[in-house]
Amino acid sequence: MIDLDHAATTPVKPAVLDAMRPFFTERCANASAGYASARQARAAIDRARDLTAAGIGANAEEIFFTSGGTEADNWALIGIALAAAKKGRRRIVTSQIEHHAVLATCETLAAWGFDVAYADADEEGRVQLEQVKALTTPDTALVSIMLANNEVGTIQPVGRIARIAHSQGALMHTDAVQAVGHIPVDVHALDVDLLSMSAHKYGGPKGVGALFVRSGTRIERLIHGGEQERGMRAGTENTPAIVGMGEATRLATAEMERTAAYTSALRDRLQSEIMARVPGARVNGIGADRLPGHLHVTIPGIDRRALIIRLDLMGIAASAGSACAAGSAQRSHVLSAMRVPDGADLRLTLGEENTQEEVEQVVRALERIVR
Ligand code: PLP
Repeated sequence: MIDLDHAATTPVKPAVLDAMRPFFTERCANASAGYASARQARAAIDRARDLTAAGIGANAEEIFFTSGGTEADNWALIGIALAAAKKGRRRIVTSQIEHHAVLATCETLAAWGFDVAYADADEEGRVQLEQVKALTTPDTALVSIMLANNEVGTIQPVGRIARIAHSQGALMHTDAVQAVGHIPVDVHALDVDLLSMSAHKYGGPKGVGALFVRSGTRIERLIHGGEQERGMRAGTENTPAIVGMGEATRLATAEMERTAAYTSALRDRLQSEIMARVPGARVNGIGADRLPGHLHVTIPGIDRRALIIRLDLMGIAASAGSACAAGSAQRSHVLSAMRVPDGADLRLTLGEENTQEEVEQVVRALERIVR
């Protein structure tokens, strides 16, 4: 199989698996218990917290482990909305091209009586700054705009948006799930108060992520129960997964420059070959900054679902947009927001194990299908 769906998930790196393995068996102690092996588990979690924090320029005490990016997004939005409502701020500003983890949470907040406003994206998949500015009012609690879009890979000007949020006394959250591990991410440079990340997008295991919460930020809990994560996120720590996240963050950061150079060169080649050989193919977001290994194209005149199925039959794993929407006959909300002309949508996301030969095979497969 040729895996061109790294934005959906990535294989766990061998060194990450090695680091995790002992914590399933001989070092399985509950980190909250009061004996020596538990203290070892606690120390491993502490080290993973340090490594995860270092990957985004945060302090360790600002990292709270979660069950993944979805929980981190839910917690950021709901936790801030509930805390800020006590001070009379009931507006959330977000964009039309966010992941469902943010959009569905916003729908829930709207149903609870919060006021949610959505900024548009332009035809290149960039959130409109002027709109964010107009929508961010003095009663805004939070502005939540993703750092990199999971469908078209466009990188948003989060630092500039944070300035708009802060000028109105609002907090700034970014869903950086697609960005961390792939492009440099620094919470100070971005000036964000909250940031969501997820390990399985960059060589770590599924089911673990983190929410960065800047020190001093008032946020309500989302998950209630025990006193884990300094009383802010209950539930027995998933020690193996957390250890894996720490190691994956360390490795991705150390290897980022080399990996990004490789995957972006491969992406550029894939892009130019598709443009030259697949009639009518349109590259979405080509005019914007994009993630290094990320390519999104729309091919006119072909059935949307048939393209992915045909590729699958040829041993190529790809998706139309987000993995969550796979199989849906409807156009994705991101492409609709970008007003991309109708056609079959195809997201091709490369990883370090992809080769030039695979790129050639994929282009040949596309040529054949379109013909
Ligand atoms: N946010 C974005 C931008 C994503 O791409 C994803 C996963 O596809 C998520 C959030 C959800 O992360 P997780 O799969 O860890 O729940």
